[in-house]
Amino acid sequence: MTVSHTPFTATVLGLPRVGPNRELKRATESYWAGRADAAHLHAVGRELRRAQLTELAAAGLDSVPVGTFSYYDQMLDTAELLGALPPRVAGIADPLDRYFAAARGTDTVAPLEMTKWFDTNYHYLVPEIDTDTAFSLHPGKLLTELGEAIELGVPARPVVIGPITFLKLAKAADNAALERLPELLPLYLDLLAQLADAGAQWVQLDEPVLVTDLTEAELALVGRTYSALSAAQHRPAILVATYFGHPDAALAVLADTEIEGVAVDLTAGTDVAALPALARKLVVAGVVDGRNVWRADLDAALGTLVTLLGSAESVAVSSSCSLLHVPYSLTPETGLDERLRSWLAFGAEKVGEVRVLATALTAGVDAVADELAAARAAADSRRTDPRLHNDRVRSRLAALDENDLTRSPADERRVLQRDHLDLPVLPTTTIGSYPQTSTIRLARAALRKGEIDQAEYERRMRAEIADVIALQEKLGLDVLVHGEPERNDMVQYFAELLDGFAVTEAGWVQSYGTRCVRPPILFGDVTRPEAMTLSWIGYAQSLTTKPVKGMLTGPVTILAWSFVRDDQPLGDSARQVALAIRDETVDLEAGGARIIQVDEPALRELLPLRAAEQPAYLRWSVDSFRLATAGVADTTQVHTHLCYSEFGEVISAIAGLDADVTSIEAARSHMEVLDDLNAAGFALGVGPGVYDIHSPRVPSVEEITTSLSAALKAVPAERLWVNPDCGLKTRGPVEVEESLRNLVTAAAALR
Ligand code: GLN
Ligand code: ZN
Repeated sequence: MTVSHTPFTATVLGLPRVGPNRELKRATESYWAGRADAAHLHAVGRELRRAQLTELAAAGLDSVPVGTFSYYDQMLDTAELLGALPPRVAGIADPLDRYFAAARGTDTVAPLEMTKWFDTNYHYLVPEIDTDTAFSLHPGKLLTELGEAIELGVPARPVVIGPITFLKLAKAADNAALERLPELLPLYLDLLAQLADAGAQWVQLDEPVLVTDLTEAELALVGRTYSALSAAQHRPAILVATYFGHPDAALAVLADTEIEGVAVDLTAGTDVAALPALARKLVVAGVVDGRNVWRADLDAALGTLVTLLGSAESVAVSSSCSLLHVPYSLTPETGLDERLRSWLAFGAEKVGEVRVLATALTAGVDAVADELAAARAAADSRRTDPRLHNDRVRSRLAALDENDLTRSPADERRVLQRDHLDLPVLPTTTIGSYPQTSTIRLARAALRKGEIDQAEYERRMRAEIADVIALQEKLGLDVLVHGEPERNDMVQYFAELLDGFAVTEAGWVQSYGTRCVRPPILFGDVTRPEAMTLSWIGYAQSLTTKPVKGMLTGPVTILAWSFVRDDQPLGDSARQVALAIRDETVDLEAGGARIIQVDEPALRELLPLRAAEQPAYLRWSVDSFRLATAGVADTTQVHTHLCYSEFGEVISAIAGLDADVTSIEAARSHMEVLDDLNAAGFALGVGPGVYDIHSPRVPSVEEITTSLSAALKAVPAERLWVNPDCGLKTRGPVEVEESLRNLVTAAAALR
């Protein structure tokens, strides 16, 4: 049965929480460091929520999400809500410390695993469910936040992750998490009743997993679950939120239940107008893109909304997903040129767009004529800006053919490179970065504050490079790196040097916990005004006779960690970035680099959620890597680095990259990955990580020897490399030196 309810007209699906000036990050880190107590952290959280809710209600939203605030992560919050924190933290008496122990671990307790939230760059904590997990409801946090909002007079809509998504994303023995649904349903029913008692008119259950491929059985389960939840009489009206893509068959399943509302991501090409069953629902129309930074095309959005009005019972305007994925506001961005700035909408501006569209629907377009005109003017200025269309780049790309993506056969290259490089068997190397020392951080801060000039900054970075080269010489590594001290970030560094990208001053977005990133904005055609890395790599190479790897970030990763253009296919943008990287590899080679590494740690992350869309993605992403790397001579050895070991759908793509050497994460998965690669016909050089850099532990010579011996069972010695499983920038110098010494010793002994 449906419950009586009043539809709303303007909302967003969720909110950022680190604070406009990263206040929550600072307060949390102070708490962790023991510099502030829990009361202080809670006070900062409460004040951030109060300010945000008040602002949103004042901005004209008539339903405001509550409960998307988090001290670390929303999946972890849901695990806590459902009594599903792992048993190993149960002994920690203080609830806040227990929560953070599950998030980050302690000296004695391992944290939950972290992984990417769908195809975004946000990481969630993976709940663990085992046979003796006894679910129980702990709604304290949600009820507190709801109470605060009601007290402020804000039209609050509590948000909870739905049971299907929670279980599908959790880790369970035998992958049987969904079988636990019958245990969760009574808890959700209890929660609904408690929220109704507390005064909630609506509740939002987030089910982003409905935009992924589900089996018929899973779809049936979705139907049964929401039929059961909507059968409750004492509850708020239920809004099921789908986002990050097209809900496809799941939409019809939801429409058949008695839930009152469904949120759909209309930036993903969803054709909701074709579903007459929505006539009995509030459709929360995600017409404002919640995960990119472009100003919306309000005219097009209005068209969509009007179509929907014809088929739905009522329509509310919304962001397509939570605003967690975009920066708070454009206000602090004084460094962007006015034109570019006028094309953008961050969180606060998106709320404004929602309000304008809702007003147009309820009061007519004349009520917002000025706003619509301003959006049109911005769109015109963007369309006609010369920076969006560089003929030289476009004609260069148009002239390329398959030959430009193809090197000689790998076997031939291997012979040539053997002579050119003269490396021992089982060559040792590292992935690129060395520990970010306080010298580096202080120099960067001093440059930013104007205390030192660029020349002094570069002098200090060179001193770091010299130290890192000397260390590697001393340890006896075979292929050296310059250590990347000059890079603030492996994507932002290149974005700052390439035309077509802009960077923000305060456009922070939460990546996980207290870690925030400032994704660059790719707005125009990409060109490389001048060589970007040559002087650093050339300097490093001048200090040693051993080969120093040229070190670049690949096109897919640069796109994955930026806000991208939405006016052309992603593959077209990738080719432009690839061309710039290719020019850099050619310059590096001419400057004496014999090995060039092009990192693609995000190759898997951009993989589309739906299987049907994956082959096309894999084609253009592999081609863009090949375009970036096939411009060098056969004697030049191309390396790549991938940051994970569960390849799944991308395994054949890895062979397709045709890199001479691929380093991968394997220290934690015990070399099984090599069997997977063999099974996929991979026959190139491979460096499975034998030192887990995600942990401060120093691996012993014996451990590394064991790993390498296991690797040698799967891969012949002439293809095997010896390296850590990722860059060393987050590690301390002492543990790095010891670990690498053990690594070199183990390799030497096996030779
Ligand atoms: N070359 C980079 C580094 O060593 C690679 C980082 C990554 O894989 N994310 O830091
Ligand atoms: Zn890595």
